[in-house]
This record gives sequence, structure tokens and C-alpha cells, in this order.
Amino acid sequence: MTSQITANISEITFDVIIVGAGINGAGIARDAAMRGLQVLVLDKGDFGGGTTSWSTRLIHGGLRYLEHAELGLVRESLRERETLLRIAPHLVKPLPILLPLYEHAARGPLTIRAGMIAYDMLSLDKSLPRHRMLTRDEALVEAPGLNRNGLRGAAIYYDAQVDFAERLVVENMLSAMEHGATVVTYARVQKLTSELKGSFTDAGQVVEFIDVRTGAAFSVRGRVIVNAAGPWVDEVLTTSELASKRLIGGTKGSHIIVGSFSGAPSTALYVEAETDNRPFFIIPWDGKYLIGTTDIRFTGDLDRVEIDDDEIDYLLRETNRVIPPSRLTRDELLYTYAGVRPLPYTDNKSEERITRRHFIRESPDKEGLLSIVGGKLTTYRNLAEETVDLIGRKLERSLPRCSTLFDVLPGAGTDHFQSFTEQFKRDSRLSSQANERLLRVYGTRAREVLKLATNDRSLAENFDHETGAIAAEVVFSFQWEMAETLADCLLRRTMVGLNSSVGVGADENAAAIAREYLGWSDTRVLEEVAAYRSYVERFQPSSLKKDRL
Ligand SMILES: Cc1cc2nc3c(=O)[nH]c(=O)nc-3n(C[C@H](O)[C@H](O)[C@H](O)COP(=O)(O)OP(=O)(O)OC[C@H]3O[C@@H](n4cnc5c(N)ncnc54)[C@H](O)[C@@H]3O)c2cc1C
Repeated sequence: MTSQITANISEITFDVIIVGAGINGAGIARDAAMRGLQVLVLDKGDFGGGTTSWSTRLIHGGLRYLEHAELGLVRESLRERETLLRIAPHLVKPLPILLPLYEHAARGPLTIRAGMIAYDMLSLDKSLPRHRMLTRDEALVEAPGLNRNGLRGAAIYYDAQVDFAERLVVENMLSAMEHGATVVTYARVQKLTSELKGSFTDAGQVVEFIDVRTGAAFSVRGRVIVNAAGPWVDEVLTTSELASKRLIGGTKGSHIIVGSFSGAPSTALYVEAETDNRPFFIIPWDGKYLIGTTDIRFTGDLDRVEIDDDEIDYLLRETNRVIPPSRLTRDELLYTYAGVRPLPYTDNKSEERITRRHFIRESPDKEGLLSIVGGKLTTYRNLAEETVDLIGRKLERSLPRCSTLFDVLPGAGTDHFQSFTEQFKRDSRLSSQANERLLRVYGTRAREVLKLATNDRSLAENFDHETGAIAAEVVFSFQWEMAETLADCLLRRTMVGLNSSVGVGADENAAAIAREYLGWSDTRVLEEVAAYRSYVERFQPSSLKKDRL
């Protein structure tokens, strides 16, 4: 955090201070800044480093929510899916999903067919194809590895996938900053207090935070505080000295990541687990397979969430049952990840039945303190719109209408993404792998990365063989995208940290580039690599296990 920023922010009363820069905080920051509000965002880590990084990465209507009659949520999600395909076409892509139908499954063919029709009816205005029902033979053409025992056919339908949800956050934050928001990362909020001065709209709420890297303490003033701390919402509320009811009842969801395997499907599969009838996904993702998820109440350490042995066994067993040739074992695991869904607190519902809707909770004894409960990646934009509308009412200000429904994210800055792509490839002297990758990660902002690599050819060199990432990306992440650590650069900017070895190996190359171009000392290089490896241990990566042998 620069002293310039901290000196300036102490002198301002912000219209809104957002605590937490996951997808929800980032979306609210963008919308609020675009509507002319003076915004400050504080996150105790990097933006997108919380739950948002640990999702199944689907932008989906939530077919499953139909079972719980959450028609409003499905309709909202389907509408937002369409919006995200439009405002972030470089990040959000259509995804065909095959849902096999088995004799003796808890959900029979009629139930599935009815669900499919309802899903289509709730999204009549969509750009994606409608569902199709397949015979047994047709299902086996789509996914030859499927278990044939009791297979009756399948349904195929479309949702969307965001390979790099982390980049969705980055782009919302970049856009917020373009519109004047101030963003401070590695700033942990320690205390919320009121400082009443006359009417509510003049009143300041004081937010105290520390720079987690230096320990320095700061305080800032805001009229409205939005607690968008995801699963940490209650933890932030306890700092306010207010009697607050518990808002969050988090459930843990874990995934395993494997390379291609025998019988691996070319489309995503949505299948029912035999153990507990829960549906789970097997999804082609970023050249690998993402398999999950689980759903277990969680009360442990939110700062270090890991998959359990039982969850690994469950996901391997169920995958091997659905795709018998796969014969996956722990030896095939590349890595795993787990996160906690910030769901509304209930003490008596099964995990699966807890609503995935979002709520904006106003603190009863503190005007102007709003807490975000629940929500999905898919619906973040709408949640942000509702929150900023409410902030406008709290401030008694008539704000301009929300425009995020149409204003594309920074990486989609062209009317014709396809022609941009073609022109980019013609202009670039990089390999086709590097071109494809830059477009997929940065969208139209790939032009800026290319400029760095064109001005200095050594920045065109590859620093990770698997992804084809180039040195310019490391420089770009620190100079233009607010990366502060190697983990920020690899896990939430260049996305190299999601490769098969969670960036182990590439981390040293990236740190060497930072030494050469960003002035890192030898000591910093060693410390950053050590800190990175210590962080990614929670993913139980095979790359680190092999290192230790
Ligand atoms: C296993 C799993 C699968 C999922 N799959 C999907 C899916 O496929 N599709 C979908 O749409 N949704 C999915 N979700 C839901 C979605 O990922 C989350 O609801 C969403 O990411 C929550 O975002 P958030 O911004 O509220 O929270 P977070 O991303 O957790 O952000 C909260 C931020 O607050 C910060 N913070 C916390 N305390 C403080 C403090 N004291 N001071 C400053 N900052 C603080 C944290 O550092 C963090 O960055 C899934 C969730 C899980 C767990």
C-alpha cells in the first residue's frame, strides 16, 4: 500500500466503503463508481482470493434449484448468464452439459424432462441452444466412457463456464478504478464504529484497518459501509461492537483436478452420486478436468480451507462409478481446492436445501451498515445493482440508473470481439499458443500485454511451458493490474498458478522476471517463492509431493 494512498484516504469521507473484494464486493464497487459515488474498497488479501476462487466456475441458471421451487432464483440466474455472456465474452463461454439418465436414479426421466422444459421456458430469450433428449446410443456417442449399466438415455443442455472467475473480479476492480474507486489490498478491517454528526447522511462511520504486511494501522470514514466479506461476514460484524444475529452458515465445497483420463468426456457431465443422490459435475476445464463438489457444514478456519480425505474418496469413487474406464486413484490427482459458500445461516436444514439466493441485510442498530449474505458468481451483477440502489436510498441521493447490464467489462472493449481476435493474431509475432492464451485471459487488454512484448523482445519469452504464458504478463500484472505478490500474479492475474503443477516451477521463472524487470532483490525472490509454495500446499498438489521425495 503506498503512503500516498493512505495519506489521501484518511482525509476523505467516502460515500461507500466496501469491505471485501470477492466477486460481490468487486461488482458493487464497479456499479457504485460508475454511478458517481466515491468508493473505497478494502480487502485483507488480494482481490478474488476468497471463495470466489474456489467455485465450480459455472455461470448457470441452477437446474438443481428447480427441485426446491426457487423459480425466481433460476430466472434471475438465467438472465444474468445471458448478461455475462454479453459483457464478458472473453471470459464466459457456453458449455454443453450432458445429464445421463439411469434406471433406479433418484431423479427419473420424467422429472428430468420436466426440469429441462422449465429451464428452457424460464430463459426463452436466451442465445444458447435449447435442451435435447438423447437415446442411450446417442448418449454413448457423446460420452463413450459412461457406465452402460442401467443407462436409458441422456439430456443435453447448455449453461456457461468461466474458466477464470478470478479474472472476472480483476476486471470489475479495474473498471471500478477507471471510474474513480480507490482500492487497497492487504488491508484487514479490524473495527467498525459510528461517529455521529447531525443527520445520518453527514454522519461518518469509521473503519479501522491494518496493512497486513507492515502492521501499520489506519482509519477511514464512510457514509455507508458494505460488508461483502463472504464467509467472513460475521467475523467483520463482531468488530462493530453491535449485537448481531449470526448471518452466515457456511458449507464447504471441494473439488479435485485431474488430467485427461480413460473414458474422459468431451462435454461436461452432470451426474447423480450413488452415495447420497447429490448431483455433481465432471467438467473439462483449462485442459484438465474439474470434478466436484461436496456440500458440508463448515465451522473451521476460514483462512485455510482444505479438502478432506473422505471428500477425495467420495469424488473418486463416484467418478469411477459413472465412468468405469477411468479407474482414477489418488495418484492421478493433480491438485484439489475447497471453499466455503457464504450461505444464510439456518440451523435445521440439510445443506442442499439452504437457499442460494442473496440477501442484503441492514444492521438494525446501525444505519448505513449493509451485509451481503449468500449469492453466486452468476448473479453478482444483479446483486451489485440492488445494493447500489439501496445505497442511493440510504444517502438520499438520486443516482444515475445502473448501466452494468450493457457496459462491457474492460477486456471486452470492442463491438466485434471476433474481428478484434483476428486482427490481434495478424499483428502479433507471438506463437499461436501465446496469442490464444492472451486473448482468453485478457480479452482486448491482450493488446497492452503484446505492446510490452513487442517493445522488448525478451518479454515475449515463455515462462511456463504448459500454458504458454509470456514474461510480459508478469510485468503487466504488477504494473497494470495491482498484483503485489507472486501469488497474486500467478493465481489471480496470469492464471499460471492453475496449471497442472499449480505453478510450481513457473513460480521461480516469474520471480526471476520480477527481479530483472521490477527490481526485486535476491532476498525478495526467495521469500516470494517460499511464500507461494507455502500457500499452495493447501491444494495438496502432486507437484509438491514429488518435490519432497
Ligand atoms: C465449492 C463452491 C462452488 C461454487 N460454485 C459456483 C458456481 O459454479 N457458480 C456460481 O455462480 N457460484 C458458485 N459458488 C458460489 C460463489 O463462488 C460465491 O457465492 C461467491 O464467490 C461469493 O463471493 P463473495 O464476494 O461474497 O465472497 P468472497 O469471494 O469470499 O470474498 C470475500 C472477501 O472478503 C475479504 N475479507 C474477509 N474479511 C475481511 C476483513 N476483515 N477485512 C477486509 N477484507 C476481508 C476476503 O479476503 C475476500 O476476498 C460456489 C461456491 C463454492 C464454495
